[in-house]
Amino acid sequence: MKNTKAILADQSDPLKSFRDGFELPANVIYLDGNSLGALPKSVKQRVARTISEEWGEQLIRSWNSADWIHLPQRVGNKIGRLIGAAENTVVAADSTSINLFKVLSAALDLNTERSKIISEKENFPTDLYIAEGVARQIGKGHQLVLADTPDDIANMLDRDVAVLMLTHVNYRTGYRHDMAAITQAAHDKGVLVIWDLAHSAGAMPVDLTSADADFAIGCGYKYLNGGPGAPAFLYVNPRHQGAFNQPLSGWFGHRAPFNFETAYAPSTGIEQYLCGTPQVLGMVALDEALSLWDNVDMEALRTKSIALCDYFIEGIDAFAAEYGLTLVTPREADMRGSQVSYSCENGYAIMQALIARGVIGDFRAPDIIRFGFTPLYLSFADVEKAVTILKDILKTRSWDAEEYRVLGAVT
Ligand SMILES: *Cc1c(COP(=O)(O)O)cnc(C)c1O
Repeated sequence: MKNTKAILADQSDPLKSFRDGFELPANVIYLDGNSLGALPKSVKQRVARTISEEWGEQLIRSWNSADWIHLPQRVGNKIGRLIGAAENTVVAADSTSINLFKVLSAALDLNTERSKIISEKENFPTDLYIAEGVARQIGKGHQLVLADTPDDIANMLDRDVAVLMLTHVNYRTGYRHDMAAITQAAHDKGVLVIWDLAHSAGAMPVDLTSADADFAIGCGYKYLNGGPGAPAFLYVNPRHQGAFNQPLSGWFGHRAPFNFETAYAPSTGIEQYLCGTPQVLGMVALDEALSLWDNVDMEALRTKSIALCDYFIEGIDAFAAEYGLTLVTPREADMRGSQVSYSCENGYAIMQALIARGVIGDFRAPDIIRFGFTPLYLSFADVEKAVTILKDILKTRSWDAEEYRVLGAVT
């Protein structure tokens, strides 16, 4: 039986028409758009057309006739509008990990007198692994130093810190940093700041320009719905463009790739952060998925995201203590992104039981069940149903079955 509150909230939802733009399987409540966004219907046709007409018929001519060559810039500019970046300060390319390698290398080279890179223990591991790799490969005695908690960061910003590298919204807990305040505090100490927007782009309004961020990176396949392994993006503040040669000096970053010159001469624009040939099919899917955002009011998106998360938390509050669920996401909306996570015993099995009932979230080791809320295709009725199913699974202990203990390669 649907609850009146959910019905009313859905009726007055200004974003409700966007759900129709997505291919969503029947009987699935998809709470994992923070990990792999759902498929926008128009992407199917666009990719099919690209394959049959542009690749199949036009062949190599499509680099010009379909302007494949400028997809990284075109897609980058579409993403830029969602994250408060000026035209030609964002490109779509490669993966988030690779883009971090490029911008972290650039940042270190802009702050050569200093030796520390600061991040957090709780940051997404690939960001920390890449920082280790950068320090090893191109660093000059650089050292990666990790904060235990977000509150420790401000005190660690001394005159020996070159770069502060943070993920805006934590992948596990959903904790959200105050981007503007932290960037300001870092700049006051001469520290450059890199923001990873993997869980922010398309999840909330972001304003890199007003925060005066130095660099940013992020994912195309999460809230931006670009599809599995979609190209990622990177942002470089215009004041740093052309100031440094990023180390992956491939021909697409050259100022004139089709002059085929022997020596590398970097573009002075954002193109310098490209490396090799763009992944056209993935770019086209992401480009099409981004067209959905043309009419999205980002403030309305954030308002709905907060309301969906609040509604979920409220529903679970009624039985969390009884079944040992501990909310690890901040209750204060201002301090969180667009996900809600709980730590609990048997989290993996509980999540598998939920998925078997059509409620798809995910599990993050060691003990977190995680639910992402994507305002473009979720309703309050979905949230209510997910809460009801979770309660039923806990009450009946249906998760306590052999089949739900088998670990997949991806959790
Ligand atoms: C998802 C995610 C990534 C993923 O990086 P890939 O190179 O695309 O695999 C990186 N950083 C953060 C913070 C993420 O959440």
